[in-house]
Amino acid sequence: MSNCDSCSDGSCAVKQSDAANDEQAQIRRNLAIRLCGIRHKVLVMSGKGGVGKSTTAVNLAFALVEKGFKVGLLDIDLHGPSVPTMCGLAGQHPQASEEGIVPLEVSGLKLMSIGFLLASSGQATIMRGPMKHGAIQQLLADVDWGELDFLLVDCPPGTGDEPLSAVQLLGAGAAAVVVTTPQEVALIDVEKSLSFCNDLNLPVIGLIENMSGFICPHCNQLSDIFKSGGGDRLAEKTGVAMLGKIPLDPRLVVSGDDGKPHILSCPESTCSEAIRQTATAVVTFWDGE
Ligand code: ADP
Repeated sequence: MSNCDSCSDGSCAVKQSDAANDEQAQIRRNLAIRLCGIRHKVLVMSGKGGVGKSTTAVNLAFALVEKGFKVGLLDIDLHGPSVPTMCGLAGQHPQASEEGIVPLEVSGLKLMSIGFLLASSGQATIMRGPMKHGAIQQLLADVDWGELDFLLVDCPPGTGDEPLSAVQLLGAGAAAVVVTTPQEVALIDVEKSLSFCNDLNLPVIGLIENMSGFICPHCNQLSDIFKSGGGDRLAEKTGVAMLGKIPLDPRLVVSGDDGKPHILSCPESTCSEAIRQTATAVVTFWDGE
């Protein structure tokens, strides 16, 4: 039944259901319009927390800006958004315009995070599945992203509600990069991320091995703190490309905490160079389109 003629007011369940369906259709339409302006959508995933996924997402986004692309970064780590702090925007809130919520901007990168919508950085996000889906839908559809070459989506670790909603909402044309560290305990979880992508028909651009060796600033010797070669072995086993290896560098911790992304504050470092190479590999994935 699509309408009810026997009630004169709008309070009956049928009319309310019709109104809800209209609202959902409108939201889906808004989302489709927003996504139309975005050429490539890249989910940044990890099997585990703490492997440097957000650090990688932020620096990869700036590396793409550096290459002259129009880039947005959406942080959907709803329970632990780090992008506001890492980009020096903690405590800031977006403005609204007739076109929608205006993303915040740093050095040409458009940014949106649930963190910008909370009253304070210490406020907990208390949400479960359907609410998370609605929140991610709004962060995509209600934000005035404009025309973008790349939208990077920083997902929380694992294969739960947020990446699943993101894949469903972004639809065809999205792809994933998976960030890992070289040791076995991290790699086991990466296989789960790859299986998630496979099951959802989400193309995998490749793996990024972060914390890949440490070059001592005093003696210049390389130490493999988290072992070595794990990412390469996994890439070989799964047939997924290895996009780049980012070494451990204490300056990444400082730049993340200070809100000055490493690639901007230390553009000449080995890490920045590795991130640029990774960005080139991401761009190459779509070559020929
Ligand atoms: P995740 O998003 O996977 O939870 P984060 O990006 O928040 O991880 O990084 C966790 C911590 O590790 C942060 O303090 C960050 O500065 C640090 N970190 C990330 N990558 C590196 C690296 N290559 N070298 C040194 N520290 C790093």
